[in-house]
Amino acid sequence: MTGRYFFRGDEGYEHARTRTVWNARTPERYPEVIVQAADADDVVDAIGYARQRGLTVGVRSGGHSWAGNHVRDGGMLLDVKGLDHCAIDTGARTAVVGPGMGGSVLAELLAEQDLFFPAGHCKGVCIGGYLLQGGYGWNSRVLGPACESVLGLDVVTADGERRYIDAEHHADLYWAARGSGPGFFAVVTAFHLKLHARPAVCGSSLFVYPLEAAEDIYPWARSISAAVDRRVELQIVASRSVPGAGLDTPGIVMASPVFADTEQEAIDALAVLETCPARSKALVAVPYAPTDLQTWYAGVMTNYPTGYRYGVDNMWTSAPAEDLMPGIRRILSTMPPHPAHFLWLNWGPSPQRQGMAYSLEDEIYLALYGVWEDPADDEKYGDWARSNMAAMQHLQTGIQLADENLGQRPAAFATPEAMDTLDRVRARYDPAGLFHSWMGRV
Ligand SMILES: Cc1cc2nc3c(=O)[nH]c(=O)nc-3n(C[C@H](O)[C@H](O)[C@H](O)COP(=O)(O)OP(=O)(O)OC[C@H]3O[C@@H](n4cnc5c(N)ncnc54)[C@H](O)[C@@H]3O)c2cc1C
Repeated sequence: MTGRYFFRGDEGYEHARTRTVWNARTPERYPEVIVQAADADDVVDAIGYARQRGLTVGVRSGGHSWAGNHVRDGGMLLDVKGLDHCAIDTGARTAVVGPGMGGSVLAELLAEQDLFFPAGHCKGVCIGGYLLQGGYGWNSRVLGPACESVLGLDVVTADGERRYIDAEHHADLYWAARGSGPGFFAVVTAFHLKLHARPAVCGSSLFVYPLEAAEDIYPWARSISAAVDRRVELQIVASRSVPGAGLDTPGIVMASPVFADTEQEAIDALAVLETCPARSKALVAVPYAPTDLQTWYAGVMTNYPTGYRYGVDNMWTSAPAEDLMPGIRRILSTMPPHPAHFLWLNWGPSPQRQGMAYSLEDEIYLALYGVWEDPADDEKYGDWARSNMAAMQHLQTGIQLADENLGQRPAAFATPEAMDTLDRVRARYDPAGLFHSWMGRV
């Protein structure tokens, strides 16, 4: 093998293992060998070695899988974080980018050239895992999940071959690469991306309400879901304190990015937020302010500090508010201290998507992020997200792989037809099961 590698028991093995997982709750799972690839040739060599030795392979780009999906017992952990190259063609509005590049880093490089890509909302998340699972990013209600902006991919398949895949070359594998996420069955060494023009106006509104306003806020958010302008991301985040807004009391934050051609359009698109029946109770109210990516990332990251332990789960739903409220009351009453939080996102109704494995979404996205610092609290907080989503399972139409918890709570993340196709495509490209599959599925 080329690249750096560490067998179990080697000096440096444990450091190489733990650094692949951003969640401080590193799984107690131990691969036989960890390979740190520096380029696509190292990937080819590693796959050849894994085939010879009968090692099942898990792949890591940015390591932001909450569940540490790539860390499995036995087999090979192939770390491709080092593949973080980026070549931007401003004229053609395309880029070829390595899977180990951070989405926020890419977004900033593009902004310098008046270009835009629907990168994820947090620093640290790399495009490798993000694009394979879908990718709910900035302005994604307009631009679609980011995988719709993937024109092609360079991959190494289970037979050790380097291939370029797109709508015309290995179209079935290209179809699978856009939505199979942590169950993808090849190694991506580069993404060929379609870039977008930078929106002329980036702004946001910010309203903070006391937690008691929940009874007004969620039914209202549900009632306007289809009416929220697609240029607005209506994110509603409840937590036990709101340090970003200087509040040490429980609160519900509505921070809504908006992308538009003019400031007036942005202000008009956000006007619906003024119709919240709790409006007079707002502790903070900023109906519109121009903003930029740096400010957004800084705000979002107050809820996702590094070095903490995370347990997350999620669901898509289109259930009516009266059915959702009992579960939401339970979520709020059992919520651990900040930075733990509950996200409600008005997402759909969605337009017709491209043909791809990403095939399941719904009007409302609910996600729970259990966050705590002390390992002694694992027992107390570790199951908060899963148990609350399980209690509302009868209302879910599926889950999003971004915040998957399949090892603890298997759930549908693609339509049954898409799952059948995925199984067929896997059997074609990875007949011997060289790559790990999802940690759970229904
Ligand atoms: C703080 C935080 C914020 C987030 N915010 C968002 C958000 O705004 N929007 C959103 O959609 N998601 C978000 N996510 C979810 C995130 O997009 C997924 O966890 C994604 O898989 C992370 O990508 P990664 O490369 O960093 O992670 P990894 O853990 O490296 O990858 C996840 C899985 O993808 C597969 N994989 C990764 N790279 C490759 C490759 N090169 N070849 C083949 N398979 C590969 C592996 O199975 C791997 O286990 C967030 C996650 C965190 C922790």
